[in-house]
Amino acid sequence: MSKQEELKALHQKWLKECKCKLRASATQGVPGDGSVNAEVVFIGEAPGKDEDLQGRPFVGAAGKFLNEMLQGIKMKREDVYITNIVKYRPPANRDPLPEEKDTCSEWLKEEIKIINPKLIVFLGRHSLQNFFPNEKISEVHGKILKKKTKIGNIFFALYHPAAALYNGSMREILIEDFKKIPKVLSKIDSFIQ
Ligand code: URA
Repeated sequence: MSKQEELKALHQKWLKECKCKLRASATQGVPGDGSVNAEVVFIGEAPGKDEDLQGRPFVGAAGKFLNEMLQGIKMKREDVYITNIVKYRPPANRDPLPEEKDTCSEWLKEEIKIINPKLIVFLGRHSLQNFFPNEKISEVHGKILKKKTKIGNIFFALYHPAAALYNGSMREILIEDFKKIPKVLSKIDSFIQ
């Protein structure tokens, strides 16, 4: 099986079998999306209204902002892989509950294992704290985090594009942090022991 086929089969399996309680209120599941050969995987929080309707991650206002930042570093959306901690929209976009994050966590781990990226970028505190429960996004944004995990060893934390969208100072910080990604990628081989 090619990586592409493996990923498709994985999403089909989980879309059928995921036990997430949010399925009852969501329109559909929103699996990760993008290149199977991506060097960078972005992990957001959970689908919003537009994502729930279209079945694709980051297609609403936050997604447009993300696309702009990708263009700013000469990357195309099709070259990266974008997914969420939780694959179903929480009602009224409330924060996902711990059990909702847990139910989708195996799906997330398996998709990232197939992609096997060089770098995993957290979009926002939910994504960060899923892997680094003691870190604060206000303290580690724009920084590299290293830890041996089953899905990767090198991570980079960013503010969530939706949180930064209408907050002038956070927006500027996010844009500046985002611009560090190419440098982080170019240095990454020297981190891997
Ligand atoms: N916010 C997220 O965290 N994920 C999406 O897919 C859209 C908005």
